[in-house]
Amino acid sequence: MPNRTNDLNAWDRDHFFHPSTHMALHARGESPRRMMQGGEGCYITDSEGRRSLDAFAGLYCVNVGYGRTEIADAIAKQAHELAYYHAYVGHGTEASITLARMIVERAPAHMSRVYFGLSGSDANETNIKLIWYYNNVLGRPEKKKIISRWRGYHGSGVMTGSLTGLALFHSHFDLPRAPVLHTEAPYFFRRADRNQSEEQFSAHCAEKLEEMILAEGPDTIAAFIGEPILGTGGIVPPPKGYWAAIQAVLKKYDILLVADEVVTGFGRLGSMFGSTHYGMEPDLITIAKGLTSAYAPLSGSIVSQRVWDVLVQGSDAFGPIGHGWTYSAHPICAAAGVANLALIDEMGLVKNAGETGAYFNKALKDALSGHRNVGEVRGDGLMAAVEFVEDRDDRRFFDPSSKVGPTIASALLEEGVIGRAMPQGDILGFAPPLCLTPKEAETVVAATLKAVKRVL
Ligand code: PLP
Repeated sequence: MPNRTNDLNAWDRDHFFHPSTHMALHARGESPRRMMQGGEGCYITDSEGRRSLDAFAGLYCVNVGYGRTEIADAIAKQAHELAYYHAYVGHGTEASITLARMIVERAPAHMSRVYFGLSGSDANETNIKLIWYYNNVLGRPEKKKIISRWRGYHGSGVMTGSLTGLALFHSHFDLPRAPVLHTEAPYFFRRADRNQSEEQFSAHCAEKLEEMILAEGPDTIAAFIGEPILGTGGIVPPPKGYWAAIQAVLKKYDILLVADEVVTGFGRLGSMFGSTHYGMEPDLITIAKGLTSAYAPLSGSIVSQRVWDVLVQGSDAFGPIGHGWTYSAHPICAAAGVANLALIDEMGLVKNAGETGAYFNKALKDALSGHRNVGEVRGDGLMAAVEFVEDRDDRRFFDPSSKVGPTIASALLEEGVIGRAMPQGDILGFAPPLCLTPKEAETVVAATLKAVKRVL
């Protein structure tokens, strides 16, 4: 009798090229892989029947939770009615037009139009092209450089991988870095001097930014891109006063601000957008994950009225914009987005993210911050991180090769909870579905404490 599981394991090993995976370990069957089969709410079940509380919502994207029939039904209805038509030359579908309207209604007041893509990476590629086009329309062809931050994450394409300020994503690929500059990460725990206040460190970050702009020449700098709260770079909320200080510099030199809200858009911090949460006034906003809660791939670049007005002038000068994806505004994905945003409202998930997020963050801090190997417990809304250190009092950090994060994440999985070892190696991250209940938050905290005690 052929064994289906054995077949799948062999096919996986022999034919599936997985993203962000240690290829050699996987080929040898030594990576911690699981085949997932079903999910409901915050829980996911694998092919061996093990049920885990997914405290990272997939890749911080299944915001409404698993198994929502409202979204599945909307996808099926759209697939039956009209699976596809393109959005080029002004075409649309009821789903894509409705979704554009719903996004702009929820976005900060000065935002105006949405350009749809499929992934956070391609939406950031779109943003960069729009910014370069914008400056060409305005007759400033030299204003093209983009500033991002060390530890920022903006995707892994050729341009977006360059924007990403994590070495893993550019070293060994020789990505072109020419139009991209990286500035100080707003990472108070690691980067601030011991006697600096958060406000002083924010002022220092703004000074570093201004120094860079002046050294390069303000007329060459087009935009600054940042996540409202650093995500993949370690789940680091901005220090007090950070965005106000940064925006003052950007305004002074007429530099556009892109808020990369791929993770924070649609409620994760307890506000519909991270920009409003932290007082940012972006010119462009990147959205993806929470837009459909990952029930279908969809992203977007939301542009402000100010940027839109210039882009429109561009069409009169240059003709139709030479930028399009076959699957932009794909009707099935748009239908998923419409159902998802409606569900977020119906379930009150933005409010829940704020309330349960505050409860979760406090419980995690209370349970773990006394441990000698815990340097910092930090977070906001339904994002949280525990940063492990070799010695808290001496501020000695673990060597990146220590694998402390992955080891604790594996121990946590054995306790029935999925957290994420962030790429730097010594940080355990959490970003559960926005429907997390206080009881589920307690389950995550208790399991984390057990896992930490087992390893450290
Ligand atoms: N921007 C941010 C802030 C992200 O966290 C991610 C992915 O995690 C991306 C962009 C890239 O999105 P994608 O993986 O859909 O290309």
